[in-house]
This record gives sequence, C-alpha cells and structure tokens, in this order.
Amino acid sequence: MPARILDGAAVAAQIRSELSSRAAAFTRAAGRQPGLGIVLVGDKADSQIYVNSKLKSAGDEGIAAGLSHLPASATLDQILSLVNRLNADPAIDGILVQAPLPDSLGPAAMQSVFDAIDPSKDVDGVTPVNVGRLVQNRADLVACTPAGIMELLRRSAIDLAGRHAVVIGRSDIVGKPISMLLLHRHATVTVCHSRTQDLPKIAATGDVLVAALGRPGFVRRGFVRPGATVIDVGINLVTDATVARALFHEGHPRRGLFERKGSVLVGDVHPEVAEVAGALTPVPGGVGPLTIAMLMANTVIAAERRLAMR
Ligand code: NAP
Repeated sequence: MPARILDGAAVAAQIRSELSSRAAAFTRAAGRQPGLGIVLVGDKADSQIYVNSKLKSAGDEGIAAGLSHLPASATLDQILSLVNRLNADPAIDGILVQAPLPDSLGPAAMQSVFDAIDPSKDVDGVTPVNVGRLVQNRADLVACTPAGIMELLRRSAIDLAGRHAVVIGRSDIVGKPISMLLLHRHATVTVCHSRTQDLPKIAATGDVLVAALGRPGFVRRGFVRPGATVIDVGINLVTDATVARALFHEGHPRRGLFERKGSVLVGDVHPEVAEVAGALTPVPGGVGPLTIAMLMANTVIAAERRLAMR
C-alpha cells in the first residue's frame, strides 16, 4: 500500500490561519502589528526567493516584515551594527538573518551574527541562549524547520513516545534540534552523520526516519522499515539529467517536469520509498511550507511575550 502523504502545505495553511487571529489580537492590544526584521546580505538567487516568500507570508498573516538588504561586500561590523539596530528597535519583535552569508566573510561569521541577536527576538532559534533552552526542554523560540516537523507529526497524530527515531544529519539548524525535540517527546533517538557506519541498517530500525542531509534521493527503500514515518527535509535542485532519470522513472510526472524545465526539486528520500513507508512528507509541499509558517508563529510568540512584559 502506498504511504500516507503528510501534507505539510495543508498543515502550514492551518497554522497560518490560526496565527492571523493572534496577530490581529496583538495589533489591537499593542497598537501596531507584530514586527519581523529580515536581514539579507548579498544577491544569492535562492536566498532572495526564500526571503521574498517570507515577506509575502508575513504580509498575509498581518505581520509587518521589513527587509534590510546589504551588499555582498558588507563587512561583519556592518552586519553586526544592523542586527544591533534591530535589537534596539521597539517595533521589531523578531529578527531573521538569512543564511548563508557570503563566503568572503569567513566560516565563523554566521555564528558571530547569530550570537549578536537578542534572544527574545531570535525567531530562528539560533542564539546560544535559545539552543540551551531547547536542550533543557523550556524553549519557546525553536528553529523553524524542526519546530514545523514536530507540529506536522503532532497534527498528523504520529505516535512518538517509546518509538525509535533515526535522524540522518547533525546540523545546528535541523539535525541537532529535531533530535532534541524528538527526545523531549519521549522517542529513543539515534543521530547519524557522514561518519556513521552501516547507515542503511541503522536507518531501517527507525519507526520514524528524518532525512536531513542534502543528498538528492539518498534514502532508498532499504533504509526504511516497512510502515515507518519518513520525514524528508532535503531540498535539492537537480539539473543533471542522469540524476533526474535515476530518481523518476519514465512516465513519472516529476520526470516530465524535469524534461520540460531542465530542473526539478527533490528531497533526500528516493521516490521508491513511498512503496514501503507508512507515511511520508512530499518534496515540495512537505516540510518547506511548515518552515515559513513556524517563522510567522515564532514572530507572533515573540511579539506576545514582549507585550506581556511591557
Ligand atoms: P548541512 O548543514 O549540510 O548538514 C548535512 C548533514 O548531513 C551533516 O550533518 C552531514 O554529516 C550529513 N551528511 C551529509 N552526507 C551524508 C551521508 N552521505 N551520509 C550520512 N550523513 C551525511 O545541511 P542542513 O542545513 O541540515 O540541510 C539538510 C537538507 O535540508 C538540505 O537539503 C537543505 O536544503 C534542507 N533544508 C530544508 C529546509 C526546509 O525548510 N525544508 C530547511 C533547512 C534545510 P557531517 O556532520 O558528518 O558532515
């Protein structure tokens, strides 16, 4: 039986409609909309696309989002002073610095910028304070993608207590926080990475399998316990015809899409997994829309909390 599709887009729409009324209530009480400051450095095309969809979603939800765009030549000091201005701005409740920063700033720049964000405005859950609170299971601002996955699992009534969850990937933004969140929901969690041995064998012991590694179609049928819930976090733009044809058989609608457009978005999970998994998030339309919805949710949470402390 083909896997049940976990429709992230539908759950994201539900979350957003709940948020609109909270944002409106905040606006009535505070005399202004919840405020989100987005920082974009440089002109990377995919970052611009992500930022534009965040700006649009904020507008739809009654959140006042503003973009501060610095050129790729901006120095670390210029970025830090921009973040400090947003920290001090009373109309800003949430700050999001779009990753990645230009390579020319060096590998430590992103963390330095995250470290400068006021934790009460850290709607991306990236500051050391909020990561620490997450570990202690008392965070209210959690990294958006993992928070969205947990919302999807909760609203899809996927049982986690006592289940074995296997996470492939240990990044600060996805792998580590989702592992913590699953642990807090009483799953037994195994975290895998590029040095893990016997990865398919370990993955196939998971009742829940989260794939967050950034390798198109890497997770094959043999990685998946029959009936498992598979969460595909990967977003990979495939432009290589050999890769696309290995993923999608002749006649598959996504193969047709590739042939027409010359590119196709694919996850880290191979399409054949739909034949063994019990439930599966699609790409696109799975985890991606939830990430944006949770950014809006975190902005409203941060705004409500700041209003309550006034
Ligand atoms: P990342 O920072 O590059 O981390 C990738 C992780 O995967 C690392 O921990 C790496 O292990 C592990 N890995 C890489 N190759 C592996 C292999 N062959 N076997 C086992 N583990 C392997 O990536 P990320 O930021 O977490 O993102 C992962 C994917 O999710 C990407 O496709 C990204 O575009 C997507 N993403 C989607 C959303 C969304 O909204 N849907 C949000 C964020 C990210 P090491 O630590 O050993 O190097």
